Amino acid sequence: MEWDVLVIGSGFGGAIVGSRMAEKGARVLMLERGRWWDKAAGPGRSAYPRGIGDPWIWNQAAPERENGWIDFRTFPRMSVIQGAAVGGGSLIYANISAEAPRSAFDGGWPPELTYEELKPHSDRVAAFMGVMPIPDGQWTERMKFMQRSAAAIGEPARFQPLELAVAFDPQWRYAPDGSTERVEASRRFVNAHGVEQGTCVHLGNCDIGCEADAKNTLDRNYIPMGIRHGMEVRPLHIVRGLEPWPGGGYLVHFDRILNGVLIRGEARARQVVVSAGSLGSTELLLRCRDEHRTLDRLSPRLGERWCSNGDFLTPAFYPGMAPLHPSKGPTISSAINFLDGSQGERFWIEDGGFPNLLADQARKLSQGRVRNLRAKLLVEVFQRLLREHPEPFPHVMPWFAQGMDRAKGVMDLRRRFWFFGQRRLRLDWELSSGKAVVDAIIAMHKRLTEATGGTFHAPMNWDLAHHLVTPHPLGGCAMGRGPAEGVVDHAGRVFGHEGLFVADGAIIPRALGVNPSRTIGALAERVASLM
Ligand SMILES: Cc1cc2nc3c(=O)[nH]c(=O)nc-3n(C[C@H](O)[C@H](O)[C@H](O)COP(=O)(O)OP(=O)(O)OC[C@H]3O[C@@H](n4cnc5c(N)ncnc54)[C@H](O)[C@@H]3O)c2cc1C
Repeated sequence: MEWDVLVIGSGFGGAIVGSRMAEKGARVLMLERGRWWDKAAGPGRSAYPRGIGDPWIWNQAAPERENGWIDFRTFPRMSVIQGAAVGGGSLIYANISAEAPRSAFDGGWPPELTYEELKPHSDRVAAFMGVMPIPDGQWTERMKFMQRSAAAIGEPARFQPLELAVAFDPQWRYAPDGSTERVEASRRFVNAHGVEQGTCVHLGNCDIGCEADAKNTLDRNYIPMGIRHGMEVRPLHIVRGLEPWPGGGYLVHFDRILNGVLIRGEARARQVVVSAGSLGSTELLLRCRDEHRTLDRLSPRLGERWCSNGDFLTPAFYPGMAPLHPSKGPTISSAINFLDGSQGERFWIEDGGFPNLLADQARKLSQGRVRNLRAKLLVEVFQRLLREHPEPFPHVMPWFAQGMDRAKGVMDLRRRFWFFGQRRLRLDWELSSGKAVVDAIIAMHKRLTEATGGTFHAPMNWDLAHHLVTPHPLGGCAMGRGPAEGVVDHAGRVFGHEGLFVADGAIIPRALGVNPSRTIGALAERVASLM
C-alpha cells in the first residue's frame, strides 16, 4: 500500500483524524477538493476572494471552471452552504465552538456515545483550537444588546457569552475614531503550532476570511501539526469513487483540477476515512453503492437521518436606536439559551452579523492599480458611498438561532429526467421535521424584538415558500448499533467494509441544537483514538 491512511476532505472531521493519525506515525495522504487559501496569494495558495469577479463559488457540476470556497446547493425546501477549502468549513465559519448540551444525547446515539464519553474529546478540541469568549472590555454592541434583550424578556440568566476559535489581545479596545479597527492594530504572534497569526481587531469579516489572521482555522492548527508529522495534503483533488483492493485496503479514484481541466488519478491505502462533510460523504458513498457498485454492502440506511440543525435567521430593525453595528466585531458572540425545552422546543438564540462587502470592495479597488477612466470612476463612486454610509445596515439586528429539529431528511441519487441525464444528489426534507422548532424560534425572535422596541420581519424565504437555508447540515451516514440502524458504528467504522471509516458531520445521527463544529471535532478525535 502506498499509504496507511487516506483521508477524503480536510474539514473538522478530516483535518483532525488525518493529523492525529500522522501524529501516531501513520503515512497519511489527505485529498481535498478545494483550494489552499491564504490572505495573500503565494506559491500554491489562492488569495481570499474579496471583490466582484473573485472566485467565491464552488460549482459541483463544473469544478474545473469554478472552484471558489462557497458551495451553495439548493434542494426543494432546503438550501445548504458548505466550505470548499483546505480546512473545510473553518475558513468561512463564524468561529463559534460550542459544546453539545447534555440534552443532545437524550436519544439517537449508539449506547457507547454519551455526553460524559465525548466530553474529554470536546475539551481536547477546545484546547487545541485555542477557544475563548470575547474578553471583557471588547464586547460588541450586539453582544451588549443580547444581554439587555434577555433581561427585557425577564430571562437574564439565559444570556451566555460563547467560546470562539479566535485569537484575542486582552489589551485591545474600541477607539471612538475607529483607529483600532484596522489590520495594522492587530498584534502578530506565532501560535502553539508554529503558525504566524494576528489578534482580532473586530473587522467583522469572520465569514469571508479574516485579513488580520485572527481566526484559529484548521489550516493554522491541526493541519500544520499533521504536516509536521509527515502528512501530505493535496488541494484541488476531487475524490470520485473507491473500491476494495484485493487482499485489503482500497483504491481511491480522484480528479485533479489543473489549469482548468480535470486529470484522472488514483491512490491506494490500507484505511480510508471519508470526511467530505454531510452532503459530500453521503453523495460519495451513495455513488459507490448505487452507481459504481463498488461498495455494495453499505447499509440501506445510507442517506437517512439528515437534519438542518434548526438554523434560522430573522432580521429586526431598530432605526431610532444607537447603532448595533452588525458588520463590526466577531460575527457571533453570545446566546440566549432555551435548550432546556422550557418553550416546548429546544433551541438557542444567537446574535448574527455580516461582513461589510461594500467597504471590502472599495478597499480592494483602491489598493489595485487603477488602469482606466471607468475604473477610476468606480473607485470614486465606492469611496463616496462609503463616506456617506460607512456601514450599510448599522441598525439591523440579525437574530440567529439553532434548534433541535427532527432528523428525518433523506438523500439519494436521482436522474434529472426519468431515464436520462446524470444521477444527481437529491435531498428530500419534510417540512414537518423542522416546522415546530422554527415556529418556536420565530416566536422568540418576535418576543425579543418587541421587548426591545424593534420592528420584526420574518424572512420571505420562510413566510412565502417555507424554504430554509442551513450552514449546519448533519447526518446522511448516521451512527447506529448495526447496519439495520446506521451506516457506521460509534467509532466511525463503516458496517460491512473493513478499513473504511466516516468521520465528519455526516455521522451525527440527530440535531445538536448548537453550532456543530466542536462536536464534529470531538467525534473525530475519538475516531482517531480508536483507529
Ligand atoms: C457561513 C458558515 C458559518 C458557520 N459558522 C459556524 C460556527 O460559527 N460554528 C460552528 O460550529 N459551525 C459553523 N458552521 C458549520 C461548520 O463549518 C460545519 O459544521 C463544519 O465545517 C462541518 O465539518 P465537516 O468536517 O463535517 O465538513 P467540512 O468542514 O465541510 O469539510 C468537508 C471537506 O471535504 C471536502 N470535500 C467534499 N467533497 C469532497 C470530495 N469528493 N473529494 C475531496 N474533498 C471533498 C470539502 O471541500 C470540505 O473541505 C458554519 C458554516 C458556514 C457555511
